[in-house]
Amino acid sequence: MAKTEDKLQQYEKRLRQREKELEQALASTVEQALSSSVDDTQDVADLAVAGYQKEMLFSQGTARNKQLRLVRQALHRIAVGTFGDCVHCDRAIGPKRVEALPWTPYCIECQERIENGEIQPTASVA
Ligand SMILES: [Zn+2]
Repeated sequence: MAKTEDKLQQYEKRLRQREKELEQALASTVEQALSSSVDDTQDVADLAVAGYQKEMLFSQGTARNKQLRLVRQALHRIAVGTFGDCVHCDRAIGPKRVEALPWTPYCIECQERIENGEIQPTASVA
């Protein structure tokens, strides 16, 4: 029991660290997007590049937002004692998978089935 709790604390620490990193990365992405938006010396080619960069920043931001949500949900699962269980099938997620991706809500089987479109992601996670 004590050992399990140690492990959970380690995951919680890693998740909190990740949460902070993502928050900082998101903040700087927003800053970059804002600072690259207004520049009246740009010609058409520059504008195209700026548009592309903005799009890239936006999609990076979206991916980070999504991960930040996963990290926060994982922290919530630690708090309520369901961390390490697949939110879809309730089976334990493989220890190696949890180790590599502590924020993952799904076991590998469910993850694959979601990617194949066989099952819908659980509403509370989407
Ligand atoms: Zn599962």
